[in-house]
Amino acid sequence: MSFSLAIVGRPNVGKSTLFNRLVGRKLAIVDDQPGVTRDLRDGEAKLWDLHFTAIDTAGLEDATDDSLPARMRRLTERAVEEADICLFVIDARTGITPTDEVFAEILRKRAKHVILACNKAEGSAGEAGLIEAWGLGLGEPLAISAEHGEGLEDLYAVLLPLSEGFEERAASEAPEVDVDVGDEDEDAPRPITADKPLQIAVVGRPNAGKSTLVNKVLGEERLLTGPEAGITRDAISVGVEWGGVPMRIFDTAGMRKKARVQEKLEKLSVADGLRAVRFAEVVVVLLDAAIPFEVQDLKIADLAEREGRAVVVAVNKWDAETEKQEKLRDMRATFEQVLPQLRGAPLVTISARTGKGLDKLQQAILEAHRVWNRRVTTGQLNRWLEGMVSRHPPPAPQGKRIKLRYMTQAKTRPPGFVVMCSHPDKLPTSYRRYLVNGLREDFDMPGTPIRLTMRSQA
Ligand code: GDP
Ligand code: GDP
Repeated sequence: MSFSLAIVGRPNVGKSTLFNRLVGRKLAIVDDQPGVTRDLRDGEAKLWDLHFTAIDTAGLEDATDDSLPARMRRLTERAVEEADICLFVIDARTGITPTDEVFAEILRKRAKHVILACNKAEGSAGEAGLIEAWGLGLGEPLAISAEHGEGLEDLYAVLLPLSEGFEERAASEAPEVDVDVGDEDEDAPRPITADKPLQIAVVGRPNAGKSTLVNKVLGEERLLTGPEAGITRDAISVGVEWGGVPMRIFDTAGMRKKARVQEKLEKLSVADGLRAVRFAEVVVVLLDAAIPFEVQDLKIADLAEREGRAVVVAVNKWDAETEKQEKLRDMRATFEQVLPQLRGAPLVTISARTGKGLDKLQQAILEAHRVWNRRVTTGQLNRWLEGMVSRHPPPAPQGKRIKLRYMTQAKTRPPGFVVMCSHPDKLPTSYRRYLVNGLREDFDMPGTPIRLTMRSQA
């Protein structure tokens, strides 16, 4: 099942250029008759292995006999309604204009998914515009150049997980309601096949041992495909059957090696980590046992959590440690303290050099993937919620008791839950934490990010 992507934005930002690049010029033949209102044109677009329908709205803006903003508003609204995802394009060189703001407002209100792209970002002329674009409140802007074909790997990285969402939805034939209330089979992760290998990113600070680890795994296991300096500019991925399971490993060490300027190292490896994290289902945060939990390690682990990835922490260079028991106890305690949002994430000690512990790491990756895909039935959840509430009722701000009425799991990868309640905005964070920690413990979901949404019942 594929999805549709509408390319929207004010005139001249580069929508057509982008459309043509995604669709291929030949397919994007347009009947250009001045004065005639054109319809939305669409084409079959391809971005590496992603296939989708691109909807171009360029040219529509000019055919105007009423005021430009009003007309654009109508057309954009239509495109927005038709499309699964909106790619909102701005011109990074001119920065945000009032017309961009009009679009942003429509998109914020109506679009199902918005991806913000700052076009014409080749070179450095677009840097200020890119920073300004954060202010639109539509999330992280992607820097692209439609004309030069740059930044498309970032677009791919954002589209990939969304496209999987559409596949999932098609597979379960969910009704239009955005909350899926069916009692599906518990614990049915997607099948891992050679075509759809489990995607792993190995991230960590420079010298943690990422290259050594990846090379060790590749050296010992059967290669499915050779190294591919693919998809992302700098992360390199390799397909391998690790312990009999097809996996694709994104190694981020390559980019670091390219960086010549020493001071840039830290900044680079975080940006670099971000890119790899977006591709991954499971993120292996590789720590150096001698210097664990550096700021940079924490940033990367936190990033993986915020991006909703399953996380496995691997402590490398364990061969060089002497007081192993004590060290491990300390590390577990520190981890819980500094990254409570990843409570219970597996912590595996390995030696990338000798290969010791790599089988445990492989097991932890599979387990993390399973938990990440975990689905709990609505029946179980509501029985559980009742127990939680009676053990510890929610507070009554200004004398009004918050009633938690009903709960369901709305998504997996990572698990996301919706609780229907009265006065959702008044529920204190501590109570949310109580629920999230409870879910983690009672339904055995250690380490995975858990999303909990409180929604008022209309
Ligand atoms: P549309 O009106 O939004 O469809 O914009 P077009 O695709 O027609 O592009 C408007 C102008 O911007 C054209 O002159 C393009 O050549 C130029 N343009 C498009 N993409 C880029 C880019 O990535 N970099 C630069 N520098 N110019 C671009
Ligand atoms: P990267 O920058 O994260 O890719 O790290 P490298 O793989 O280049 O490794 C950095 C250094 O750590 C190298 O000198 C490796 O030989 C060393 N190293 C990697 N893994 C281990 C290990 O398991 N034990 C020990 N003692 N050293 C290791």
